[in-house]
Amino acid sequence: MSKPVNLDILNSGQIRNDWSLGEIEAIYNQPFNDLLFAAQTIHRQHFNPNQVQTSTLLSIKTGACPEDCAYCPQSGHYNTGLSKEQLMAVEEVVTKAQQAKETGATRFCMGAAWRSPREKDLAVVLEMVKQVKSLGLETCVTLGMLDDDQAQQLADAGLDYYNHNLDTSPEYYQQIITTRTYENRLDTLQNVRDAGINVCSGGIIGMGEQTQDRYGLIQQLANMPEHPQSVPINMLVAVEGTPLGEVEKLDSIDFVRMIATARIVMPKSYIRLSAGREDMNKETQTLCYTAGANSIFYGEKLLTTANPEAEADMKLFKQLGIKPEGSEATQEELVQELAQELPKKKEMFYDATQA
Ligand code: SF4
Repeated sequence: MSKPVNLDILNSGQIRNDWSLGEIEAIYNQPFNDLLFAAQTIHRQHFNPNQVQTSTLLSIKTGACPEDCAYCPQSGHYNTGLSKEQLMAVEEVVTKAQQAKETGATRFCMGAAWRSPREKDLAVVLEMVKQVKSLGLETCVTLGMLDDDQAQQLADAGLDYYNHNLDTSPEYYQQIITTRTYENRLDTLQNVRDAGINVCSGGIIGMGEQTQDRYGLIQQLANMPEHPQSVPINMLVAVEGTPLGEVEKLDSIDFVRMIATARIVMPKSYIRLSAGREDMNKETQTLCYTAGANSIFYGEKLLTTANPEAEADMKLFKQLGIKPEGSEATQEELVQELAQELPKKKEMFYDATQA
């Protein structure tokens, strides 16, 4: 059993960028109740504990990615039955953003399966960012690697967040991706930070990594010059046809420990429940909220994997007394509205698995 963590230090409100692996290990391995208490205490110092930020994610260009991320059905290296799609038209994306807003999302994230954007494609994405932002939504894109000029163009277009995950520890990384290096990822994040765009960066657990690798991932994120403003913690969605298609499912308590640890070492970051949520029962999701998760992807599809229906999310929010951050409607109004609107919105999000 790890040494007990001194809660006075945790509660000091200090933001640190010098976490040692040993400290992170000690936090992660606290008795579960102590860990959740510490995480919830810190969460309350920086956030309304009864609010969760809601983002909707749309795949604007799906499949045929040249990268070989071992978990990803969009990689052109694996045969997962996923059809590839061209970059969507700006008008189509803006329509879906408008629908996402009406369904209660406050941030619209657009994901493209690229190694890095080509100039002509980036020009289209810049237009998407401008138009989605003009709807009053926060914007986020994930387009692969960026150089400093591309990051600046996105900043000039008004982009709020750029998502680029580290995925795992530097040590385990080579088991997961060989077509780009950890350093490449850190460089992109530096370019994004330098351009003044908020960073969204996290990782995936349940990919066969050791617990040590989870500490390593958290350490990399927490020791960046500035903590990522948004930290998505994903649970692997094992997709048949990918190298990780048969990996044993992660224990949900380990996942909650990861959320709580991220909350404690990055007190001001939004900790996001991302992929894998559809495999979690409402009790596990509730524990994640208690552990300090305060952001979710919300909508019918999360890129190419299933996402719990928005209506179920709103029902759980209502049971827990959670309100979507920034939403003018109460959750009761949203549940009612969703019950009426969802059947009409079945085509709202691109379902790549049905293409
Ligand atoms: S995770 Fe992103 S970069 Fe990796 S294969 Fe999938 S789409 Fe490509």
